[in-house]
Amino acid sequence: MANYELTIAHLYGNLMNTYGDNGNLLMLKYVAEKMGVTFNSEIVSIHEPFDEKKYDLVFFGGGQDFEQLIISEDIQDKKESLTNYIENDGVMLAICGGYQLLGHYYMGANGEKIQGISALDHYTLSQDNNRFIGDIVIHNEEFDETYYGFENHNGRTFLGEGERPLGKVVQGEGNNGEDQSEGVIYRNVYGSYFHGPILARNEHLAERLIRLALEKRYGKELDLPTVTTKM
Ligand code: GLN
Repeated sequence: MANYELTIAHLYGNLMNTYGDNGNLLMLKYVAEKMGVTFNSEIVSIHEPFDEKKYDLVFFGGGQDFEQLIISEDIQDKKESLTNYIENDGVMLAICGGYQLLGHYYMGANGEKIQGISALDHYTLSQDNNRFIGDIVIHNEEFDETYYGFENHNGRTFLGEGERPLGKVVQGEGNNGEDQSEGVIYRNVYGSYFHGPILARNEHLAERLIRLALEKRYGKELDLPTVTTKM
């Protein structure tokens, strides 16, 4: 019998799911259950309020500019509750389009400004007739961990106040192709351009997120088995 339980919000899960991003949810469930944790998840989508007190973890996948434009409007109604959740150290994983929407804005490939919620201080520009596509490897010095993935994005993201990268680019383009940063860590929010999904290829990152969520809900001193291997 599991001692612990986690409730996950899959933000716009029926709209934002490019390149199998939903697999991250399967991976979180797999790792949580290996640790003896009961895992419940539900989609929070358009016209549905986000209850900041209800969730232990939020997953926000990537999407095309079209879906992002639709969500960009709706997410303004959730701006306050999502910002409160983040500022209260809520745990979140946001991929690509989701990651972009947590910041100030994303200039879409057609030149349209897709407004984010400014919960994080980054902004995203577009690039002309080009996308960053391919395998990517990054290293996180703080955790001494390497993450492997696949990126496919038009956006070029620039980090701001209080944000540190998820890792330094070893191979590939990362946030913007210029400063060797990839993704973001802000409080307990993890953002990345990795599709693929990121957690299936980097199981120790899945375990890190589960642990953070459990510590947030149950306190620091938890007796939990290590169930993944660090790369
Ligand atoms: N539409 C965004 C871009 O091209 C996000 C893409 C994605 O989520 N894969 O940058």
